[in-house]
Amino acid sequence: MFVDTENKYIWKNGSFERWNDSNVHILSHTLHYGTGVFEGVRAYKTNNGPAIFRLSDHTKRLFDAASKISISIPFSESELNLAQCETLEKNNLKEGYLRPIVYLGNEGLGLRAKDLSVNVAIAAWEWPSYMDPEAKEKGISVMKSSHKQYENPLHSGNKIIGTYFSNTMALHEALDNGADEAIMLDKNGYISEGSGENIFIVKDGHMYTPTTDHCLNGITRQSVIQIAKDLNLQVKEKNLDYDELLNADEAFFTGTAVEITPISKLDNNLINNGSRGEITKQLQEKFQEIISGHDKFYQSWLTFIK
Ligand code: PMP
Repeated sequence: MFVDTENKYIWKNGSFERWNDSNVHILSHTLHYGTGVFEGVRAYKTNNGPAIFRLSDHTKRLFDAASKISISIPFSESELNLAQCETLEKNNLKEGYLRPIVYLGNEGLGLRAKDLSVNVAIAAWEWPSYMDPEAKEKGISVMKSSHKQYENPLHSGNKIIGTYFSNTMALHEALDNGADEAIMLDKNGYISEGSGENIFIVKDGHMYTPTTDHCLNGITRQSVIQIAKDLNLQVKEKNLDYDELLNADEAFFTGTAVEITPISKLDNNLINNGSRGEITKQLQEKFQEIISGHDKFYQSWLTFIK
């Protein structure tokens, strides 16, 4: 739940409004039909002030998703990059989560959305940890979901609002069954992703992750692949079946929210005897150095605010 929203602001269509006064019209097309796109972005505390992780990559993905559903965003990528920096500053945040969202107006209602206004808003808030901090070491439990990723190619690989329905249902199903997260399968029954995370496994010293045919090409996923290669670890993108996850030496999720979080239990079976694996730990440590600005080699991934 959000706390202390009294002095917080949301950027909307080029200016700031008070968080507590911010609203969307009840007839917004997006509210009725899910026609919109969003991003999840993170800013970290560094010795040189707050820095946003891979800001331009997130903004580019927002524009790519919008174009997939024929929404033309009335701002440029650099304008929205700047707006995200300004939103952090305006809210005096040294670290936090940013949520840009693009949604349609309420000038008319019906499925036809051709002439509706396109609105952009950016909210930001403190968000030190999505998972229990202990989870970074102990790992989390997951459950194979009965909810599959949709077959329509628009329904995976893009952060399109309406498509998140099955992800929410998958997460709720997992939580109701005592697990921390869901493992969603693709239409062919291969491992796809978590409800909001990509997945990797380690077997015999090599890393594997599903291809992006049926999952989001997460920015943390792309970062981990790059980091692994730089550490001379082998990473292969391929179809992964349930048994490969079950018999993995290590498994972990990646995502803006969870960063790198070990998976220690799958449907009541322990992975790596229920403890974090060495490669997972190595990647977590490198990722931490990068996001805190201590690794100069990856500094181009950080956008510093003042
Ligand atoms: N898959 C899904 C379905 C997601 O919503 C997310 C979160 N954006 C991810 C994977 C991880 O992507 P990223 O690393 O870009 O946060």
